[in-house]
Amino acid sequence: MTAQITPTRSTQDYQALDAAHHIHAFLDQKALNEKGALVIAKGQGLNLWDTDGKRYLDGMSGLWCTALGYGREDLNAAASRQLAELAYYNLFFHTTHPRVIELSELLFSLLPAHYSHAIYTNSGSEANEVLIRTVRRYWQILGQPQKKIMIGRWNGYHGSTLGSTALGGMGFMHEMGGMLPDFAHIGEPYYFAEGGDLSEEEFGLKAARELETKILELGAENVAAFVAEPFQGAGGMIFPPASYWAEIQRICRKYDVLLSADEVIGGFGRTGEWFAHQHFGFEPDTLTIAKGLTSGYIPMGGLVLSKRMAEVLVQQGGVFAHGLTYGGHPVAAAVAIANLKALRDEGIVSRVKNDTGPYLQKLLRDTFSDHPLVGDVQGAGLVAALQFAEDKATRKRFANEGDIAWTCRTYGFDEGLIIRSTQGRMIMAPALVASHAELDELVDKTKRAVDRTARDLGLL
Ligand code: PMP
Repeated sequence: MTAQITPTRSTQDYQALDAAHHIHAFLDQKALNEKGALVIAKGQGLNLWDTDGKRYLDGMSGLWCTALGYGREDLNAAASRQLAELAYYNLFFHTTHPRVIELSELLFSLLPAHYSHAIYTNSGSEANEVLIRTVRRYWQILGQPQKKIMIGRWNGYHGSTLGSTALGGMGFMHEMGGMLPDFAHIGEPYYFAEGGDLSEEEFGLKAARELETKILELGAENVAAFVAEPFQGAGGMIFPPASYWAEIQRICRKYDVLLSADEVIGGFGRTGEWFAHQHFGFEPDTLTIAKGLTSGYIPMGGLVLSKRMAEVLVQQGGVFAHGLTYGGHPVAAAVAIANLKALRDEGIVSRVKNDTGPYLQKLLRDTFSDHPLVGDVQGAGLVAALQFAEDKATRKRFANEGDIAWTCRTYGFDEGLIIRSTQGRMIMAPALVASHAELDELVDKTKRAVDRTARDLGLL
């Protein structure tokens, strides 16, 4: 498969200019500059091409966002039409526009009935910023202004802005000027690493009960919300034990603490359900959404509120002191509508649930369950992780697991596969439109990368 690409400069020129002017996310820029960045120039379906014409299968949907794959004409047409009709208007004061209203109608037809309102943003980070202030506002209106502590989880990821960094649990991000008062964290439900001698179910309850301990330590009257990803994405695609979420929900209800699900990765079909909290069977009070909302074709995110919260904010709240110039942008809303209609009307989400999801999960387990480097395979729908282990029986991880997984990632790129590593885990999340043949290619190339890594370690 080849693609027409139209770079106007050589790869080396692009790399030199990039090194001269741009600081990359989550990478040592000095080390990168010695090698040069990978310049991606073209996308179609699940395929990407770099400026040298090399093809990659995108096993990560960009950054978990291109649900429909690249190059969709309907999304392109929706954006073009909207640019011509009304390129910009805003939702400040008393104005609005048709696309954002139509988007809300569609969005709430896909969501469970107990959600009623959304606040639109341009990203997941912003949506979590809005979450922090909205939750605090909610408790202020109810006469409990001291109820403002947000509890997140260590190794959770909620964005790179100040509030979302504090809410997240990435220590190295906190160190870069990212911690704030009134944020607290509990441990992650990472059974493979932390389960000890407990069964998965016992560990799930233990991990959830850390929340109760933390709430009691801080005083329930001071805790506004617990915020977490239904499955932990950037932290390594960590799926909690089945006992975890019901217990978390019980604790939140008991202490009158709001339960907020960050659905930025899990939302819009990733697990085979429309939203990941439905996969795990719990009912959050708020949802943070982004990524799959527009398939990443244009930035858009949002905060979804339960009827109960919205009623308080709308009926008793007075002026809502928040606004983003581009929140609910008409072009983004038009793309989101086209994207959500495609996910629904082409049966893509139900195919992930009933066909391609089970197909990928079985293929991964058949391929890797007995692999000498792999200790565990986790996932649901079209999201999965391979856990590397030095000793599978005792769940012993490699001391240098991050380096090993990074090597595997590099082999993946060499094999023409975009795959990601986090600590000792290889993580994948292909576009939701992936065919069986594309999933075969994904697993086949992953296997080659994992085998090469295992050979380096003398395991094969
Ligand atoms: N929440 C989660 C769970 C995420 O994975 C991300 C991004 N990877 C964000 C929030 C932040 O979204 P954005 O990068 O759009 O700001």
